[in-house]
Amino acid sequence: MADVTLLDRLNQWALEQPEKTIYSFADDSGSVVASLSYKDFDEETANLARLMLASPSSHAKGMGLKKNDKLVLVYPPGLDFIVAFVACLRAGVVAVPVYPPDPRKLKKDIVMFTTVWSNSGAKTALTCANYNHVKKILDIKQKMTFSESYPWPELKWIETDRLGKNKAAPNTVNLPVPDLNDLAFLQYTSGSTSDPKGVMVSHGNLSHNLSIISEALNARNNSVVVSWLPQYHDMGLIGAYLGILYTGGSGVYISPFSFIKNPNLWIQLISKYKATHLQAPNFAYALCARKFVPSPNLDLSSVCHMINGAEPIDGAAIDNFYATFKPYGLRQGVVRPTYGLAEHTVYVCDSAPELTRIKVIKSVLETEDKFEFATSSTPAQDIKEMVGCGSPEVDVRVVNVDLRVAQPEGLVGEIWVSSKSTTQGYYNMPDLTKEMFHATLANAPDVEYVRTGDLGVFYKEQLFICGRLKDLIIIRGRNHYPQDIEKTIEGFDAIRPGCSAAFSALLSDDEVLCAMAEVRPEATVSLDQLATSIRQAVASEHGVTLEGFVFLNARAIPKTTSGKISRKRCKVAFLTKSLPELHRSITQVDQSL
Ligand code: ATP
Ligand code: MG
Repeated sequence: MADVTLLDRLNQWALEQPEKTIYSFADDSGSVVASLSYKDFDEETANLARLMLASPSSHAKGMGLKKNDKLVLVYPPGLDFIVAFVACLRAGVVAVPVYPPDPRKLKKDIVMFTTVWSNSGAKTALTCANYNHVKKILDIKQKMTFSESYPWPELKWIETDRLGKNKAAPNTVNLPVPDLNDLAFLQYTSGSTSDPKGVMVSHGNLSHNLSIISEALNARNNSVVVSWLPQYHDMGLIGAYLGILYTGGSGVYISPFSFIKNPNLWIQLISKYKATHLQAPNFAYALCARKFVPSPNLDLSSVCHMINGAEPIDGAAIDNFYATFKPYGLRQGVVRPTYGLAEHTVYVCDSAPELTRIKVIKSVLETEDKFEFATSSTPAQDIKEMVGCGSPEVDVRVVNVDLRVAQPEGLVGEIWVSSKSTTQGYYNMPDLTKEMFHATLANAPDVEYVRTGDLGVFYKEQLFICGRLKDLIIIRGRNHYPQDIEKTIEGFDAIRPGCSAAFSALLSDDEVLCAMAEVRPEATVSLDQLATSIRQAVASEHGVTLEGFVFLNARAIPKTTSGKISRKRCKVAFLTKSLPELHRSITQVDQSL
């Protein structure tokens, strides 16, 4: 099964169900503004792939690209991106999906774009006419502001929406059949803990991961996806777009901005299109429940599987989601905590319908790195709920990295993974690739694992994710997981949910706990008083003093292009005071800050 490539599936579906709609894109009001049938998609991607390979001197004035050339794909939300992406797969050139720099955030976005572009070595960017227009405005604006510090990368820009439809490629250009080991695309990681890294995903990795996802999710050609996830990030690209192509289903997409403006739109479209398979990070489940506006004809009974992944799982958010949408037919058991990462293409495992939720003693986990069950005498603030991400079908170990041995059940270790979905490494980073992709256990030197950098625990064969090794806050020998401290901070009404970061910083020669949080614009509380209350809550729930604390305006906290908190950038901003701050509160440790 796994050796059937995505392109084999495209051929199959274009023959078997040419008239069926594969992809539709809806605007802010939920009206479909563009759609493609399997036949259209097959023809458009083949034509564009031939144009990529055709010689510039040919009649069709092709792009003259060669196998393994890199192309950055800079598209706003819409269907042009997926046409260009699959055309790259068909041409044997390497797509590099990126977040399209936003003119309103010129400096920040260009820095991120340039980081990815320079690592990839691409010389050409594909885009669409719409975006190129924005880019031209941006070019002018940039020249007027800080062109020397943040120049646009030297790239040749090609608008594929004009080419693909209006210009027929010479059909003498043969499209190559990819080898499973051929590089399919570079998936840049979110950049939560460092600059984004270009993960080298092969055609074989993609086929294998898509086959295990579709088996685990029981996705078939009657599957319907409704998604707002960014198309340049693995969960959206593979989970929401390529999964549909692989299984022969159909998908309806909206912009991530449409979702953030109006989370109800996602819910309404799930009902309207009788969606079966959905994907979203935990915050989206919480947001949808919070912002839900009841509507009489809503029917969510078609939903079979909702992936909840990419960030820590909060059982309470899942409870609220069920409580809100059960009256509209949402079946119990459809929301599935899922674990995955780009280094393993995307998916590793997901939970069974019946969630495993266990309550462990937080202080034992933090000081002894193990699960010990809470009892009736455990104080409430020392109880931590962990939600299982299921039993992996691929080879996953939780490893004691000092000894390079698998940990017994119940003990924390680094999660290592090995399967045909393990990607080929980080592009242009041989040392890091060697360190992270070729780890071996002391007693099994022949099996190579990718080190995920995540800490986890196996308990009754279920994998529980504790947090990122790099984000761990170690203070006086106790390991604090930042998401626990952030949960306490966000427990205050004045703080925006999902918009706080906890990290440690060296103040006066001491590694201490610090944090940043966005304040709701409508909050009326005194910030001095709020800082005191938060400090008290953190001390009582986590046994540690919050030494440094900064309040920010809404939407000011550093996040990745996939919407994750970047604690490393928060720490730098805290130490350098580089963000506009509403209020700064430091204890006795270091008043110079
Ligand atoms: P970078 O590697 O650039 O720092 P990133 O790790 O966030 O960024 P991605 O590959 O997009 O990049 O995300 C994968 C990571 O997301 C995992 O390694 C893990 O840290 C986190 N993650 C995924 N699923 C879960 C989950 N169920 N619970 C907790 N964390 C998760
Ligand atoms: Mg990572």
